[in-house]
Amino acid sequence: MGKGLIYVCKKCKKEFEFMEGRGMLDSKTELMKYDSKFNLIKRYKDGINGEKLNEILKGKKYILDENYYGYKTYQCPKCKSITNKFYFKLIALDKNDEDFISEYKCSKCNEKMNIIENLSKCPICGKDFNIEDIEIMNWD
Ligand SMILES: [Zn+2]
Ligand SMILES: [Zn+2]
Repeated sequence: MGKGLIYVCKKCKKEFEFMEGRGMLDSKTELMKYDSKFNLIKRYKDGINGEKLNEILKGKKYILDENYYGYKTYQCPKCKSITNKFYFKLIALDKNDEDFISEYKCSKCNEKMNIIENLSKCPICGKDFNIEDIEIMNWD
């Protein structure tokens, strides 16, 4: 089960959702299976270098890094918009290959997005967030 945080800005009334973790369908075997409906390719539709991921799953020469995979919150450095995307790292078994780490671009400005852990202020209007501006929710 994953956890989520919702930041609600009292000033501009905007909401920002942080979804972290995994759902019930995010099993390690399914994620790595090329012909599975629940594999990483499906999670990575708008990811950078998706064709490479396609080849990786087909080739079976990589393993999923178990330290962390699941949803994380990404932010565009330019327009500050926030989105939840599936994070994962694939470790190459062959030393000549490079590891593959999920990366996403902002759908508006095409900038590479950064992973963020929390928000100290509203990305839209700049108001500082306090603990009472944050709601917690569970999802699966
Ligand atoms: Zn605001
Ligand atoms: Zn952007």
